[in-house]
Formats: sequence, structure tokens, C-alpha cells
Amino acid sequence: MTRKERYQQVLSYFQQNMPVAETELMYDNPYQLLVSVILSAQCTDKRVNLTTPAIFNQYPTPQLLAQASFEELFPLIKSISYPNNKTKHLIGMANMLVNTFNGQVPMTVDELVQLPGVGRKTANVITSVIDAQPNMAVDTHVFRVAARLGLTIKATTPLAAEKQLIQYIPKELVHIAHHWLILHGRYTCLARNPKCDSCALQTMCAYFQKQQKKQPKA
Ligand code: SF4
Repeated sequence: MTRKERYQQVLSYFQQNMPVAETELMYDNPYQLLVSVILSAQCTDKRVNLTTPAIFNQYPTPQLLAQASFEELFPLIKSISYPNNKTKHLIGMANMLVNTFNGQVPMTVDELVQLPGVGRKTANVITSVIDAQPNMAVDTHVFRVAARLGLTIKATTPLAAEKQLIQYIPKELVHIAHHWLILHGRYTCLARNPKCDSCALQTMCAYFQKQQKKQPKA
């Protein structure tokens, strides 16, 4: 199977079987998504979703969050990973939104990465989820699943994986392909014990085919 064929088969499977794929983070507007994505670093979406209602209730706008003190915000965040840094990042991010971006979440990767707590992955998530831009956010699930399937080859960094993926995935599918790979990694292609026996992608998976070849013949 050529690499192009592998991409076509994988994408076609997801198009048919997962036509709707969205972030599991709960949000009502770009500001809320930005807060959620910053909080989601090294933390599950489930836990973030338990944390954000109180934050959005108390700080419904960037202007109000910008005025929060560390002592006020920290208790709302303390149950998730890296609460110290995330508290500082959220207040810094809100201040920059207000002072530099007129209180609006910018919609380019170059602008977003200027915000405290926002790296390339977060910027790609925001622009692809809110604006369907063809930006591939490579998190641990995307990185692992793409490598196992053989969509990426010898990609040693998220950026290298991102470049390979956007080279082959049609522009209009990049934003949803991100969710396909994440959800497949979260529920089927698990890090330690991938559920290959029940995985519908076996026939197009480089890892599965390699494992099959290793099995002793009966
Ligand atoms: S066959 Fe196994 S390794 Fe391949 S995508 Fe499915 S779960 Fe992952």
C-alpha cells in the first residue's frame, strides 16, 4: 500500500464512520475555548470540564479575568495539573487579550502564540476548532496514532508529524482529522494496550501489519 492510499483509506473510513467529530471540551465562545485548552495541558478534558463552569461563572469575560488576582483564581484551578503555572498563564493571557487584542481572541497562529500559556498546539486547536483553518494540532494521541497507522514516518517531534500530516490530508479535512485521530487514540488505539482486535483500521494500519508478520505461523 502506498502512503497516499493509506491516507485515502484512513480518511475515508473516518468520513463514513465518524462524520461528526468535535472537541470534548465544553465552551460557548472563543474565550472559553482558549481558557479550556490552556487548562487541558497534561490534563484530561473530563477534569477540565469539571473545573471551567466555576471559572466562566466568576470570570465570564477576558476583562474580568484580567482583573483577577492569583489568590482569587488559584482555588478554582487547584484540582488540575500545574495549577500555579496555569493560574499565572490565564491571568497573563486575559491581560494580553484586553491590552493587545481589544478583548478578542485573535484567529491567527502567529498572534495566538504570543499569549501566555499558548504554544503552537493550542493555537492550532483554537484556529481549527473555531475557524476550521487547516491547522493540525499534534497532541500525544495524534502523534501516536498517526505513527502507528503509518500516516507519519520517522517523525520525532510534534512539528515533524504536523508537517507530514498536512502534506497528505486535504485542506478541507485537516480540522476534523485532528479530532478523528484524537478520538481514535483516546478510545481504541490506547497508548499501552491498543485495542487492535476490535479496531476497524487493521487492514490499513502499519503497526498491526507489522505485528501480524511477527506472529509465529501455526
Ligand atoms: S490496529 Fe491497533 S495499532 Fe492500528 S490503529 Fe487500530 S488499535 Fe491502533
